[in-house]
Amino acid sequence: MEVWHMREHLAARYPGWEKKLRKMPDDQIIAIYMRMQRAKPVESLAKYVGAGLLGYKAPEHYIYECHRCYQWFESENPDIQECRYCGADRSDMNVRPV
Ligand SMILES: [Zn+2]
Repeated sequence: MEVWHMREHLAARYPGWEKKLRKMPDDQIIAIYMRMQRAKPVESLAKYVGAGLLGYKAPEHYIYECHRCYQWFESENPDIQECRYCGADRSDMNVRPV
């Protein structure tokens, strides 16, 4: 689990801490999160995290499908201009968010 995700979990767990949680250093976030997880399993909080109280999000991913070599690949970059495998250009690829 990444730290932004832990921050969101803590925000769901501790209403009113949003400002504090944004400023808190990573190691402190990790420590509190670990303590919280021991006290209360994280699964029961999963539904709150979807709300994203702090506004942090996982990076978007895009799938590129090449019409020339029929390979596909995934990237966080929405602006890739050529196929990673055959070098075909963007017009030969279909791009869609995951
Ligand atoms: Zn290709």
